[in-house]
Amino acid sequence: MSTTLTPVLTANWDQANSFTLEGYGPYDAAKKALGMDPDAVIQAVKDSGLRGRGGAGFPTGMKWGFIPQGDGKPHYLVVNADESEPGTCKDIPLMMANPHSLVEGIIITSYAIRANHAFIYVRGEVLHVIRRLHAAVREAYEKGYLGKDLFGSGYDLELVVHSGAGAYICGEETALLDSLEGFRGQPRLKPPFPAVAGLYASPTVVNNVESVASVPSIIANGADWFASMGTEKSKGFGIFSLSGHVTRPGQYEAPLGITLRELLDMAGGIREGHQIKFWTPGGSSTPIFTDEHLDVPLDFEAVGAKGSMLGTRALQIFDETTCVVRTVLRWTEFYAHESCGKCTPCREGTYWLKQVLKRLEAGQGTEDDISLITDIADNILGRSFCALGDGATSPIHSSVKYFRDEYLKHFEVGGCPFDHKKSTVWG
Ligand code: NAD
Ligand code: SF4
Repeated sequence: MSTTLTPVLTANWDQANSFTLEGYGPYDAAKKALGMDPDAVIQAVKDSGLRGRGGAGFPTGMKWGFIPQGDGKPHYLVVNADESEPGTCKDIPLMMANPHSLVEGIIITSYAIRANHAFIYVRGEVLHVIRRLHAAVREAYEKGYLGKDLFGSGYDLELVVHSGAGAYICGEETALLDSLEGFRGQPRLKPPFPAVAGLYASPTVVNNVESVASVPSIIANGADWFASMGTEKSKGFGIFSLSGHVTRPGQYEAPLGITLRELLDMAGGIREGHQIKFWTPGGSSTPIFTDEHLDVPLDFEAVGAKGSMLGTRALQIFDETTCVVRTVLRWTEFYAHESCGKCTPCREGTYWLKQVLKRLEAGQGTEDDISLITDIADNILGRSFCALGDGATSPIHSSVKYFRDEYLKHFEVGGCPFDHKKSTVWG
């Protein structure tokens, strides 16, 4: 495994004008794609092995291939820019520093799936990102890269930037579609998947920002180039966001399969004088890892084989000063707050988890409460309507698995044994 970074999407982030068309350059990949047959574009993305960068890792080209052809219905591309998984910070900096890679990727993707309308659904809170997207889209229209007869190909594309209102559940693709249609954002029953009945009940591809932004480089450099990076089943590169007790937190673009140990080497290691205690491979919805997992290749298969998920590659890193119980409580408060309320296991279960965890963290729980939180989590997992409920159980099960003693310690000493000022993470 190469330990070097592979800057593609992040290559020009240090340039002062990286977010302008002048800084990005002409849309040569889009021009090339529009000279190809749409099916050949889909095949190139299939051959590259690109898998969804939003967390689930579904093969991107395969998803595009599900869009029925000759069905007489309009097709849509919807870019999921509602990044909000705790610890995940890749799409927002990408859209700030390199929005034209996304716009160019949208042109290629829309052309491949025969869509003439595309949307970017972006978090409502990130006003600076919304403004930057609007500016990039405006520049692309002015240059003739969007609108009518792109590159003289006869292909038309309209692109709309739509801001949500800041609900985590609207990152779930079907809740996002409801929200985009003007309804309250709540998940729909799947199947039918959006590829069959998505926006306005028409075939729709919903793709993550980073997935779409990766497409121009695949068209420009070829599927083999992309497939030569990464591992056998997790091809290419991805942006890893490192946060928490790291000397140089930030975004590191590297081949899939790199390890946290290698990433930490590049990020200056854990903050001086401390040791790693636990971390998330892909945000708080993925089971936590400990120092024994530093050499696990960060690809979909290897992380899965060790009982977690690659998810969004949100590496939240905590040293020995951080209380696991307090961390899990904070994450659970987030899930209880963001639960959309549609199904009982998640709506009630996340609330109960929060109540019991508060008791445990305050040192007022009992050993039975540890069994209670795992029992509640067992009753949420697999019984919830969407992935939010399942995700809420990940920190519970994994923290009890690796740090049961720390839960016990809280009620042995009648309070939290940690000095939170030393950790600085949860204050
Ligand atoms: P999923 O596995 O159900 O679906 C993944 C994608 O593949 C979807 O677009 C889905 O429509 C498509 N798909 C799957 N099977 C299909 C089929 N048979 N036919 C057509 N299309 C099909 O996962 P999900 O619920 O969409 O996403 C869960 C993931 O989201 C989690 O793994 C988590 O990492 C991630 N997540 C990300 C964020 C973020 O901020 N980026 C936030 C929360 C969760
Ligand atoms: Fe809503 Fe939670 Fe049920 Fe998902 S799992 S539908 S967020 S209540």
